[in-house]
Amino acid sequence: MEKRHIAILGATGSIGTQTLDVVRQHPDLFEVELLTAGSNAALLIEEAREFDPAAVVICNEAKYDEVADALRDTDVKVFTGTQSMCDLVAAEAVDVVVAAMVGFSGLRPTVAALKAGKAIALANKETLVAAGDLVMDLSRKHRAPILPVDSEHSAIFQCLLAAGGNKVSRIHLTASGGPFRTWEKDRIAEADKTLALKHPNWSMGAKITIDSATMMNKGFEVIEACWLFDMAPEDVHVVVHPESVIHSMIEFEDGAVLAQLGCPDMRVPIQFALAFPERLPLKGERLDFASLGSLTFQEPDREKFPCLGLAFEAVRRGGNIPCAMNAANEAAVKAFLEDRIRFYDIPEVIAGTMAETPYITKPSLEDIFATNDAALAAAEKRIARK
Ligand code: NAD
Ligand code: MG
Repeated sequence: MEKRHIAILGATGSIGTQTLDVVRQHPDLFEVELLTAGSNAALLIEEAREFDPAAVVICNEAKYDEVADALRDTDVKVFTGTQSMCDLVAAEAVDVVVAAMVGFSGLRPTVAALKAGKAIALANKETLVAAGDLVMDLSRKHRAPILPVDSEHSAIFQCLLAAGGNKVSRIHLTASGGPFRTWEKDRIAEADKTLALKHPNWSMGAKITIDSATMMNKGFEVIEACWLFDMAPEDVHVVVHPESVIHSMIEFEDGAVLAQLGCPDMRVPIQFALAFPERLPLKGERLDFASLGSLTFQEPDREKFPCLGLAFEAVRRGGNIPCAMNAANEAAVKAFLEDRIRFYDIPEVIAGTMAETPYITKPSLEDIFATNDAALAAAEKRIARK
C-alpha cells in the first residue's frame, strides 16, 4: 500500500483519538496532514506536536491564540473557523478525510471534501441522516468513495465484499440495547445523565452515548444503512445483541446469512476504512469463543425506546424530515445533558418537532440548512416549556 495522507475532522474526540492510535501503529503507511477540533485546544496542541500535520484548525475562535502560541516553534499552520476547515480538507495533499465531528456540524466540511473528490472515512452518521440523498449524490458525482466507520456499517460493508454482487434481501443491524436494556420503563423515566452515560460495551463521546441509551443511535444507523447500501427501511431489521460481538449481518435471497464478528474495538473499522481494500495488522484483544460461551438476541422494545420508531417514521417519510428529526434530537440531547429535560422528554420533543416541520420532498442543501435551523428553534421552544 502506498502511504496515505489523512485529514481528521474531530481529532480530539473518541473516534479522532482512536484514528490517531491506528496511525501510531503504522507510521510508514499513514501520514497526518490536517487535524481539527472544536474547543479542546490542549489536546489538539499535544496531537499536533506528536503527528506534525501541515495544518490544524481549532473551530472555537476564542481558543485560536492559545493554539497558535503553543505551536509557534513548529511549522504547523494554525487556523480557526469552519470555512478554513472546508478549504483545508480540499488540499491536494489529502487522500482520505476522516469525518469524526459530532452532529450536524459535520455536514459542511464533509460536503467540501466530497466536492474535492476525497475518500471519506465516515463516522459522522448525522451527515447521512440529515442529508443522505445529497451526500450520496455528491459521492457519485465526484467519485468520492464513502467508507463506513460506524462498526455496524463497516460489518455490512465487509460482508458485502463476500457477496459477489448478489442481491441482499435483508440487513440485520445489531444493537447492544444500551444501559437501560433490562430496566423497567418507570425506572428509565427517572434516569439522569450519569446513568445514561454508562454504556455497557463501548466508550464513546457523550452525544452518541445518550443516543445509544434512547436507541436513537440505532435509528440513525437504520437510515445510514438505507443510504449507504441502497436498502428499503423495511429490509433493515434491528436485533438487540447485548454482547456486541456480531457487528451486523447480511441475508441473501436463499436465506444464507453472513456476519462480521470481533471484540468491540472501533480501531478495527477505522483502520479498515483507512487501509481499504487492504487489511493491516492491529494490536488488540481477540475473541475467545469458549469463554464467551453464548451469544444472545432479542427484539428491541419499541415501547421503552420510542426513538427507534421515530427514526423509521422519518426515513419512510423522507424529504427533509430526517433532517428535522436529527436537529430536534441534537437540541434535546444537549438539554438532557444540561439537566434541563427528562429522559422521555427527548422523544416527545423530537416527535413534536417532526410533526410541525413543513415537508419538502426533495430538499436542496440550502433547504437542509434552513430545516436544521428551524427544527433546532422549534425544539428549543418545546424544551423551554418542559
Ligand atoms: P466526541 O464528542 O468524542 O468527539 C467529537 C469531535 O468533534 C471532537 O474532536 C470535537 O472537538 C469536535 N467537534 C464537536 N463539535 C464541533 C464543532 N461544532 N465544530 C468543529 N468540531 C467539533 O464524539 P465521537 O464519539 O468521537 O463521535 C464522533 C462521530 O462519530 C459522531 O457522529 C458519532 O455518532 C460517530 N460515531 C462514534 C462512535 C464511537 O465509538 N465514538 C462510533 C460510531 C460512530
Ligand atoms: Mg454504531
